[in-house]
Amino acid sequence: MHYISTRGHAPKLDFEQAATSGLALDGGLYVPEIWPALSHKDIASLRGLSYRDLAVKIISRFTGDAVDASELRSLVDSAYSNFDHHEIAPLQKLDSGLHILELFHGPTLSFKDYALQFLGKFMDWSLNSRMQQLTIVGATSGDTGSAAISAVTGSPNINLYMLHPFGRVSDMQRRQMTTNQDVNIFNYAVDGTFDDCQAIVKTIFNDAEVSRQFSLGAVNSINWGRITAQIVYYFYAALQLGAPQQKVSFAVPTGNFGNVFAGYSAFRMGLPIEQILICSNENDILTRFFDRGRMWKQGVKQTVTPSMDIEVSSNFERFLFELLDRNSDEVTRLMRLLTLEGAFMVAPEALERARETFSAHRVDDDETCRAISHHYAETGEIVDPHTAVALAAAKKIGTDARHPMVVLSTAHPAKFSETIERSIGRDVDLPLQLSRLLAKPERYRRISNSSDELKKLMLSVWSQLCWQPRKLDPFSHCCCFGACVSEVSKQ
Ligand SMILES: *Cc1c(COP(=O)(O)O)cnc(C)c1O
Repeated sequence: MHYISTRGHAPKLDFEQAATSGLALDGGLYVPEIWPALSHKDIASLRGLSYRDLAVKIISRFTGDAVDASELRSLVDSAYSNFDHHEIAPLQKLDSGLHILELFHGPTLSFKDYALQFLGKFMDWSLNSRMQQLTIVGATSGDTGSAAISAVTGSPNINLYMLHPFGRVSDMQRRQMTTNQDVNIFNYAVDGTFDDCQAIVKTIFNDAEVSRQFSLGAVNSINWGRITAQIVYYFYAALQLGAPQQKVSFAVPTGNFGNVFAGYSAFRMGLPIEQILICSNENDILTRFFDRGRMWKQGVKQTVTPSMDIEVSSNFERFLFELLDRNSDEVTRLMRLLTLEGAFMVAPEALERARETFSAHRVDDDETCRAISHHYAETGEIVDPHTAVALAAAKKIGTDARHPMVVLSTAHPAKFSETIERSIGRDVDLPLQLSRLLAKPERYRRISNSSDELKKLMLSVWSQLCWQPRKLDPFSHCCCFGACVSEVSKQ
């Protein structure tokens, strides 16, 4: 199984390489060279499998020869061992064909755990077998940071540097990151915005000196390993609702288009999907694209669904590649236009084809809060604001029992208690995972809005490491990270 770049000028990679890299060398994103295909009979044979068993079946279609079956089995088992629901991703039935797939039962209570817990285990295994070490540098506006930290915490093969914008993530989101005490986790709060954090990460990746010292890796949402693990829950939900005989629709709260692209991948593998609803907040660049076939930038607005406050969805390029019949020159041309002129257009036939699988919906903050309060009044259950965006979109288009619709619930409401309180007039009971953070000390360092300071810190950590042979691995480090960690202070 090989992976090719959407821009056509980067080397082909195997799964192990594709799952640990970010952008391809030509600026593109990696996609499967050939989509794995499942017949209706294959899909029917997956009915009744547990989430873990299904994950092994689906993920193995993408790993190919890279991982043997028993190894994959144990990676999957350990990835989903600390989820707080035995079904991992339980499906709740509402009325008239509407269902909610709960994707917040992982250790950090957002759906990012479903991908990152697996990826963390996979990377660790892969590095171990190649006797290599990886330094991951990432930026977060909230949920990704804690999910990535939880996924690699304690790994002897991985150091993680996570940047968040100082004062711009919620109290709970910050605590989820900064209460981690492991020596391989470095939390930095940047005096700047999320975009500044991302710019610093980009500069670090392009820095020759850093590249000489560190083997750098990325876990941002363009990572193919993350998409692979997310395909599983689309099958899991659809099988329970009668797939492959019954077609199912999905409503997906969308930011970087990773979750939507996982659904599209399931569709390309043969899962009968009626429609995928791309659900956006007031940052509606995708809704505008599906209206008019033209994508153009307008700037980002802050909303009650911060994980979806994104201008350009990075994974959209993967879909564009498929929409343009894998014409990588055309993808390159359009993406350049978007960067240089802030806009591009596709032909009416392409838009027509895109609309066969997708519809796009914009839900503003008022509608989101109303959806939370309606749902609470009807069911007594509280959904998080991101979930509410998808719920509102699904209700707008209307559902009936013959056409099941699955709303993906991407976070636990307690992560966004302010908006919940505003919507229903009471707060959410804190789950144990969050309440116990309140008593824990925080550990992070505040840094200036410059890549130089981060670079200096990374290099000084490097020089303080004492390297000792661990097993046969000359590159693994012992535990004297402590020396540099103690200087990382709160604020
Ligand atoms: C990341 C995130 C999203 C957006 O998912 P994408 O895959 O980036 O489209 C939606 N909801 C929540 C709660 C998230 O954390």
